[in-house]
Amino acid sequence: SKRKRTGYSLYNANQNVYSKDRLILVNDLLEALELEQFEINFQPKINLETGSICGAEALLRFIHKNHGYVPPDKVIETAERMGVIHRLSLQILKKSIAECSKWHRQGYPISVSVNLSVRDLASTGLCSKVKEFMEEFNLNYEFLTLEITENVMMENLSLSIDQLNKLNKLGVKISIDDFGTGFSSLAYLKRLPVQELKIDKSFVIDIEQDENDQQIVRSTIDLGHSLGLTTVAEGVETLTAMEIVKSYGCDQVQGYYFSKPVNPEEFRRLLSMQ
Ligand code: C2E
Ligand code: MG
Ligand code: MG
Ligand code: MG
Repeated sequence: SKRKRTGYSLYNANQNVYSKDRLILVNDLLEALELEQFEINFQPKINLETGSICGAEALLRFIHKNHGYVPPDKVIETAERMGVIHRLSLQILKKSIAECSKWHRQGYPISVSVNLSVRDLASTGLCSKVKEFMEEFNLNYEFLTLEITENVMMENLSLSIDQLNKLNKLGVKISIDDFGTGFSSLAYLKRLPVQELKIDKSFVIDIEQDENDQQIVRSTIDLGHSLGLTTVAEGVETLTAMEIVKSYGCDQVQGYYFSKPVNPEEFRRLLSMQ
């Protein structure tokens, strides 16, 4: 088909050496985009004060018909190279907003967090798309959080700040994802319209044994709070890890201890059980 040929030529024109696997992924990714075949799983975010689910992070799931599960980072990276990341992100955004509005209709007024990548912030149409979807699904802006990594923001700082300010004005919340792994300085943090810090899971996974991790997580939580931000620890895999971050005053946790990312139906079941 025409689409398939475009996929190959796009790929070969820009890059030199590619494995067969990658070419297959490119074509199937384009097809999945066209057919809106990507699935989204949701991982609960737990409010440590109440112990209940206060939100969910939307995570892309792509099951390839021959290769099986393709990690989302790989899908995103490929979509970025192909220049279709924004189309993909908008599909994920729309589906996540639709799902969140379903939770609200069922009596669970919780928020949804969606990951964005570099190109998304560079697109000036992002804000109006967010508006369009929120209006379409009749969801209040305060229930949408956009997760952005430090490096994504640093790539084009002034444009990022403009975009984030516009989204912020609507009421959308901004979260810095994988905090502590990027290159942002604290001076930047002050300038950015951000409401939430997500402490990277690499500092949390071994927190029971690693005293350095304990110090890092503790001081990150304090830093976040001193700037008026909500703090979230990701990668909480055990009860003890949860208790440690709770003792530091962390606001929310996300991790396998509570639940892996699950499909929409399973997530609604989790909501109904609490
Ligand atoms: P992220 O945004 O930091 O998402 C958290 C990752 O940690 C997810 O991996 C999640 O499954 C994993 N995780 C959660 N709890 C635990 C835990 O207790 N232990 C461990 N070991 N891992 C845990 P996943 O789903 O493989 O996603 C990886 C990354 O891919 C994400 O990191 C995000 O950067 C990117 N990604 C996923 N979905 C999307 C998307 O829709 N759009 C964009 N732009 N990026 C996405
Ligand atoms: Mg994230
Ligand atoms: Mg993260
Ligand atoms: Mg990550």
